[in-house]
Amino acid sequence: MEKVVALTKRRGFIYPSSEIYGGLSGFYDYGPYGVALKRAIRDLWWRHVVELRDDIVGLESTLIMPEAVWEASGHLANFVDPLRQCLGPCRRRWRADQLLGDRCPQCGGVLDDVRMFNLMFKTHVGPVEDRASEAYLRPETAQGMFVDFKNVISSTRVRVPFGIAQQGKAFRNEITPGNFLFRVREFELMELEYFVKPREDDEWFDYWRKERMRWHTDVLGVDKSRLRFYDHPKESLSHYSKQTTDIEYEFPFGWGELEGIADRTDYDLAVHQEKSKQDLTYLDPETNERYLPWVIEPAVSVERIFVTLLLDAYDEDVVNNEPRVVLRLHPNVAPVQVAVVPLSKKEELIKVAQEVVRSLRGEFRAEYDQTGGHIGRRYRRQDEIGTPFCVTVDFDTLSDKAVTIRMRDSTAQERPSIDSLNERLKALIAAH
Ligand code: ATP
Repeated sequence: MEKVVALTKRRGFIYPSSEIYGGLSGFYDYGPYGVALKRAIRDLWWRHVVELRDDIVGLESTLIMPEAVWEASGHLANFVDPLRQCLGPCRRRWRADQLLGDRCPQCGGVLDDVRMFNLMFKTHVGPVEDRASEAYLRPETAQGMFVDFKNVISSTRVRVPFGIAQQGKAFRNEITPGNFLFRVREFELMELEYFVKPREDDEWFDYWRKERMRWHTDVLGVDKSRLRFYDHPKESLSHYSKQTTDIEYEFPFGWGELEGIADRTDYDLAVHQEKSKQDLTYLDPETNERYLPWVIEPAVSVERIFVTLLLDAYDEDVVNNEPRVVLRLHPNVAPVQVAVVPLSKKEELIKVAQEVVRSLRGEFRAEYDQTGGHIGRRYRRQDEIGTPFCVTVDFDTLSDKAVTIRMRDSTAQERPSIDSLNERLKALIAAH
């Protein structure tokens, strides 16, 4: 983990938020390569969950929502973690459910009694800070999908079973943020609410468990042997859930939740219908029945995927008798998919290399790397940021109109013509 954290800072993936002022615990900024990786994750989720299907539509609801929503959803009462504070010298606060024993793990001090701490960030809307103006930054995007359910069914032609998908920021005032991006206080959720006929939840729950696992392994390229399902026992389920399965990854600190798939039944629509006094039922055109659909919800954050991909991809090996660090990221997610490097700073080469990179942009995430230094050094830099293909323009290129593709993983090389480069790279990515 330390090696990955150091690499992400050194190479411009991630910076601690507001670092020049000492940082803010549980908040991170994304640098140029981090942004590219994040966008790739988000786009692949959207593509596979929404664009490639005809049963799921998108939604963007607001980040700040009134208290009434969180009152109805149960978050005001139940979105809490048990907190214990150390009464010894360190005064640290701990999540009680993660403690073993009655002493502070840091200084051995006595811990005070358990109290419940609500994880939602509260704010005020408008100039007056009174009870009536209280609102919350959303801790999940799901409630937006339930609150807008009526709008979606009456303004579109969706038919059960169908889904509403949303990506966007969520905020949780975690007691113990940590493990780098694994647990942060501001993160980006990608959630799907998939509405099904009452009591047809079991089959759809099973479908989404398998489909989401497939996405992590086949689309993102996460190592299958480091992923597993974890079915929550009944007593640890969230207040809204009938059954929950986590897709877990084997992190350096142990197995941890990457994505959660929850069977929320009609809990949310029922409570919103009751509290808002609006009819949220769906009229089934096949049976003419009115009912509240049940919901299966796969939910994952970009941050958990981000840290998983980096840990999964990080490797050290030896090439030409020199040790190297390499991120073996799947080309689908690599921040730079192809780097074009002229062998020297000679003007003729630069001109061709720039033409080559221009012809790749738009189709691939392409970077032009003309920094001085030995070609080997530039390959190493690209290996560290996970670039699967480097395209080298050399003096022969001027006469044979061909370039060298150097593969990150095997360091093997091949020499296609410039004309066929685009197609060749597409084939290499598809074959990965
Ligand atoms: P925990 O019990 O670990 O605090 P949770 O079970 O309440 O978390 P969920 O509500 O199931 O978490 O969250 C859904 C998904 O959102 C998780 O699978 C994870 O991908 C992501 N997630 C949740 N909390 C955080 C966080 N603090 N930082 C980053 N991602 C998070």
